[in-house]
Amino acid sequence: MSTTEQSNVHGLELVERQMLIDGAQVPSRSAETFVREAPAYGVPVGRFPEADAEDVDLAVRAARAAWAEWRQTDGATRAKLLTAVADLIRRNVDEISRTECVEAGKPIRQSRDEVLSSAGLWEYAASLARHNYGDAHNALGSDTLAMVVREPAGVVGIITPWNFPLLIVSQKLPFALASGNTAVVKPSEHTPSTTLQLGALLAEAGLPDGVVNIVTGAARAGAAITEHPGIDMLSFTGSTRVGRALAGKAGEQLKKVELELGGKNAQVVFADADLDAAVDAAVFGAYFNVGQCCNSGSRIIVEAAIADEFAHRVAKRAEHVVVGDPLDERTDVGAIVNTGQLEVIESYVRQGREAGANVLSGGNRRDGLFFDPTIFTGVTEQMTIAQEEIFGPVLSILTFQTAEEAVSLANGTSYGLSAGVWSSDVDTALSVARDLRAGTVWVNRWMDGYPELPFGGFAASGLGRELGRQALDAFSELKTIQLQVGARTGRWVDAPDDVSR
Ligand code: NAD
Repeated sequence: MSTTEQSNVHGLELVERQMLIDGAQVPSRSAETFVREAPAYGVPVGRFPEADAEDVDLAVRAARAAWAEWRQTDGATRAKLLTAVADLIRRNVDEISRTECVEAGKPIRQSRDEVLSSAGLWEYAASLARHNYGDAHNALGSDTLAMVVREPAGVVGIITPWNFPLLIVSQKLPFALASGNTAVVKPSEHTPSTTLQLGALLAEAGLPDGVVNIVTGAARAGAAITEHPGIDMLSFTGSTRVGRALAGKAGEQLKKVELELGGKNAQVVFADADLDAAVDAAVFGAYFNVGQCCNSGSRIIVEAAIADEFAHRVAKRAEHVVVGDPLDERTDVGAIVNTGQLEVIESYVRQGREAGANVLSGGNRRDGLFFDPTIFTGVTEQMTIAQEEIFGPVLSILTFQTAEEAVSLANGTSYGLSAGVWSSDVDTALSVARDLRAGTVWVNRWMDGYPELPFGGFAASGLGRELGRQALDAFSELKTIQLQVGARTGRWVDAPDDVSR
């Protein structure tokens, strides 16, 4: 079936959406718009306002005005609102997941899972809203009592990518709100719809106007948020290139920054591992979301003695990955997000071939924005395909002889987001897990995530952590308050006291 026929079958239509500023649905002040095409079907599905600095300024002002009251709300009220949002997300799962599926090109089954997981994040953040407390110090001497209280950072700018649109905004926004912040959110220009749908649900849940504002647009709007002096903190997920530039700009104003960036994640497979499970995890790690995933397991580092067998088993299993129409319930892997990204993937595959790696399977684009699940063997550490984030369905397989060599290869990129180790020997698994330089290490599993567990990267993969109870730290400032107990004794200046003068 051609992409046009598919789109007719699915009856896709262009939806006009507006931004959310101070509780109102608004166009951009300039009236400029942009259009998003569904990558799997090649038809326009959304038109959005193109925000510039003026729109961002309005959004920041609304967030600042709303903060005065929102920062004073009690945890129970915040928790109730966040729980209401979680319920509304669940109630609207069909509509939101269909929008995400069409706009991002990701399979409908996966979209549904992501929407439900997003609801879980709002629910977990609600539980944290009632645990937003600090410390008391009662051992500083008889004349001193001190407390350390958390305060919200203020107005938070949240900038998100296109690969997990609703999930990633839900990793940030409810935690920012639980901590008493207000927000200006900018979703990716490729996938703004579900963030705007979320905005409507926030209003329905009863969130006061201006607490969350959503602007749409590309780099210009993101830069305006980054540089606006009224933004106290930036929470960014996206590429290392943009994250680095954004952190530089934010640093000039000494804004608080939290960054979730790219990865070149490795799964280390020892010969004594449960190979059937490891093969499945290799396929899942490499091809989930067409490899457009910060946690993509884009490198397998396998013990040389089993490397050939392992690679062939991965290739055999990959043949069963169903690539195609995202709205089809049977599809495992959908479309590449846009033509530019497809060209990036093709260019990396070309570089891999030219560097002398062997294409064991795949390696080609298909009709439309689809790409074969691809496996390179004979990859060495210095090759570009072993070092750089491809963000496509391309797996590089490297080999090792000793555990030390495996760790050195796994740690041998500029990134440090996630890593994995497969072994049935507990000593091997744990010692390698301890030596891997990554924010998350999976042992005999891959890519599971829980709201309770902090997530983030070492080195070029980011700064700070989101999720877990640590999310409250990320979105708060600490304030120390000291109290004098009884009279303040001793004087700094040796002088007669005022009364005797
Ligand atoms: P990107 O960096 O191109 O864009 C991310 C966001 O930043 C978008 O909203 C974009 O409009 C905005 N932006 C672009 N230029 C900007 C600028 N100069 N100033 C401010 N904002 C700007 O990333 P992407 O292509 O949307 O997403 C893919 C990248 O995201 C990959 O590198 C991936 O690894 C990373 N990612 C990381 C995580 C994580 O949690 N570590 C999760 C998902 C994606």
